Amino acid sequence: MSDRKYLIAANWKMNPAPQGALAKDSPYRTLSSVDVWVFPTYLDLQPCIEAGLITGAQLGSSAANGAHTGDVSMTMLTELKCRSVLCGHSERRHGRHETNEEVIAQTIAALEAGLHPIVCVGETLKQREAGEEKEVVRKQLEGLPVESRIIIAYEPVWAIGTGKTATPAQAQEMHASIRGLLPKDVRDSTRILYGGSVKPDNAPELLKQKDIDGALVGGASLKPDEFRAIVEAAIG
Ligand code: PEP
Repeated sequence: MSDRKYLIAANWKMNPAPQGALAKDSPYRTLSSVDVWVFPTYLDLQPCIEAGLITGAQLGSSAANGAHTGDVSMTMLTELKCRSVLCGHSERRHGRHETNEEVIAQTIAALEAGLHPIVCVGETLKQREAGEEKEVVRKQLEGLPVESRIIIAYEPVWAIGTGKTATPAQAQEMHASIRGLLPKDVRDSTRILYGGSVKPDNAPELLKQKDIDGALVGGASLKPDEFRAIVEAAIG
């Protein structure tokens, strides 16, 4: 994994913070050897931050301010002391029809506000079966600024919340392809996370892959013991 530090990110989606998440011995606390970040709902951002967890939002607006009912700007997230924000999670791309252009605009807004965006990319099952996965991901990354603060999460849509995981070889192949698309200046330093039904039993093999620098974890991040085991797999 070169000298890129592992990052294990917990996406709690529209669920309350798991029991004990804010406690001193919480598995959601960051470590010197592994970065651990949490992505709660907007309602739990402040309690997580106040408890000392490294916290990000699940969504931020590409607009700076104004008439955008229901939205929260990237600057507001920075002022709250968020570290990060998810951009283009597949549940937003597919459930809320966010386009590639919108996701890139969110990423730029996040960078301008000083955040470390996690840009999520990934193909559907139909696209993989048609052999289009690399081209789909290439298009999703088109226009991405050259910035070392960007983190990429490869999350095949067919593996999210389904219990199906890309094999370590499938994941590594896509991660290497993504790394190859990155500009030289940031190619080796950019962290590329894998997401899609990461669990304690598959985490060790996935994390061993050369270009996998951590995981974005949904379902298992709601179970403190499972999440702890995934973090431990990253510690090695
Ligand atoms: C996710 O929501 O980003 C995710 C990867 O979910 P799960 O781990 O449940 O597949």
